[in-house]
Amino acid sequence: MSGHADPSAGRRAARVAEMLGERGLDALLVETPADLRYLTGFSGSHGMAVLRAAAPEADAAAAADAAPGADAQERAHLFLTDFRYTTQSGEQVPAAFAREIVTGELLDAAAAALEGSEGRLGFDDASLTVARHRRLAEKLPQGWELRACTGLVEGLRLVKEPVEIARIRAAAELADEALREILEAGLAGRSEREVAIELELRMRRLGAEGPSFSSIVAAGAHAALPHAEPRDEPIPPDVLVTIDWGALYDGYCSDCTRTYATGEGISERAREVYELVLAAQEAGLAAVQAGPSGREVDAVARAVIEQAGHGEHFGHGLGHGVGMEIHEGPRLSRTAGEEPLRAGNVVTVEPGVYLPGELGVRIEDLVVVGEGAQEVLTSLPKVLTVVS
Ligand code: ZN
Ligand code: ZN
Repeated sequence: MSGHADPSAGRRAARVAEMLGERGLDALLVETPADLRYLTGFSGSHGMAVLRAAAPEADAAAAADAAPGADAQERAHLFLTDFRYTTQSGEQVPAAFAREIVTGELLDAAAAALEGSEGRLGFDDASLTVARHRRLAEKLPQGWELRACTGLVEGLRLVKEPVEIARIRAAAELADEALREILEAGLAGRSEREVAIELELRMRRLGAEGPSFSSIVAAGAHAALPHAEPRDEPIPPDVLVTIDWGALYDGYCSDCTRTYATGEGISERAREVYELVLAAQEAGLAAVQAGPSGREVDAVARAVIEQAGHGEHFGHGLGHGVGMEIHEGPRLSRTAGEEPLRAGNVVTVEPGVYLPGELGVRIEDLVVVGEGAQEVLTSLPKVLTVVS
């Protein structure tokens, strides 16, 4: 995990520095792990950054003439962590950041670092807690004020660079391979929990940092709960089993769901629901491209399920963005905004039909949005397959 700096991080930090200037901010506090890793390459669990706005071009030229040293310009930003990460941060964090190893609270040190200047400090109000906001306001030096800026960095993260897509693709391939190995040993007779544990173990053996979320393995009526916890009970024959899993690889997540039959003897209704969800999934997948909004793509798949009379049994959104976080923007749902999908978004398409007390089916693929095209990253077959 450590030992290699992400060459993209410095470039991204420079871009955010420009955006701050455009928005009338002088600095930005970055503390969510995904945003921090995106901008600094730091993959540890305890760090923080203060990015400084880039000076407008004319000012920068003037400053360079009169500058005491170019070094001050180059190390405009600040990265803070504790002594456990001295070596790791030294390897990972680019030169644009001055590094400080802090003994106390990172937040206090971040505020103290602003001493001697003044301006507006942006923070992400989607992540900074009320208590920490209060503490920050107390510690902030004279002349500084706080400005909420929701999802400024997350907004950039939604459009993936080729290097990021390559990592998500690798995570998806690894997760697919792990499930293939699991299916060879069969499903019926093993417990849901055993299958989930084995799946996570195999992903790790294949090189994953871990699962990208707790795997779901749910058989029969249990699969009617969209977020079922795997149980110790054995998976029966002749039922549908939903498996929802993903790998975390090189900082990026994958996400996939498949539903299998554990025997030819599944009910006629189970087959019908399976074919319906598959039809909705393929319709939704075909609608994914740059241009339409997440709401519009959701509606395409939802219409298929509604026309079959199962609208009320599909109670969640069609999909979500995936990247450094397993659930991020853009959303594909009835309540998503009108924002169009953009080339480079990576989203899931995962309709489901859940019949309480009876059965559940969900089928999910991970797809890269393109201009009039798409790349599906998950590759396991979707035709109803018996795995006994
Ligand atoms: Zn999933
Ligand atoms: Zn998902």
